Amino acid sequence: YVSIRDLHKYYGTYHALRGINLDIGKGEVVCVIGPSGSGKSTLIRCINRLEDFDSKSEIRVDGTPVVPGRALAKVRAEVGMVFQGFNLFPHLSVRDNVMLAPRRVRGTSRADAAKLADQLLARVGIAEQADKYPQHLSGGQQQRVAIARALAMEPQVLLFDEPTSALDPEMVGEVLDVMKSLAGTGVTMIVVTHEMGFAAQVADRVIFMDGGEVIETGTPQQVLEHPTESRTRNFLGAVL
Ligand code: ATP
Ligand code: MG
Repeated sequence: YVSIRDLHKYYGTYHALRGINLDIGKGEVVCVIGPSGSGKSTLIRCINRLEDFDSKSEIRVDGTPVVPGRALAKVRAEVGMVFQGFNLFPHLSVRDNVMLAPRRVRGTSRADAAKLADQLLARVGIAEQADKYPQHLSGGQQQRVAIARALAMEPQVLLFDEPTSALDPEMVGEVLDVMKSLAGTGVTMIVVTHEMGFAAQVADRVIFMDGGEVIETGTPQQVLEHPTESRTRNFLGAVL
């Protein structure tokens, strides 16, 4: 569903992604792990083209090339993203945050968008917070709003960039639980995470990156328990 061919990304002269090739199937849950600076965020930001990448590289989402222009809007409507910081609009209520994209992008009526928002907020377990403003919610609740907001466009692909790493430890579980509940619903998930337990339990596939390259990929058991590459072993030795 997401295909990445020979992806190269330069920041000026710095070669941040060095020829990534990946095919991710519909509904697959892929966790991306690797040391700081290995290119994990850059990789997922390229998928919805928040970052430009080398013109000889190719990324397709559901067959559509992710190139600037008209097709990009279609891709972005299909690809939701959840960041480490929640990036909610502080001047909008929780419900209005979730309603915004359907209203603006789809032209959904206010009543329908509100109904959808309330359904999604219930799905992530915070129906009762709909009328509050983001700053009055806990970090875990804010991140669940961000997930509901991403779901409001009914994305085919969800990208997560360390969605729990800015949270206090006691709030990590509630966000991971929501993500677990999304896995297996047909949505394709690409999750950059340091949560090895989540990767082990939920991922169909784990990808280990280092130095802008995919070093090793396989089932969680293969990569996390029986890594074949010394760089993977060193990384796991340091984080586990
Ligand atoms: P972390 O685990 O710390 O989030 P990461 O694997 O997500 O790291 P990236 O953020 O993708 O790493 O960065 C990959 C490399 O590209 C790093 O060396 C980083 O310094 C560099 N880089 C990232 N963004 C930029 C930028 N906007 N301009 C220049 N260099 C950048
Ligand atoms: Mg990162």
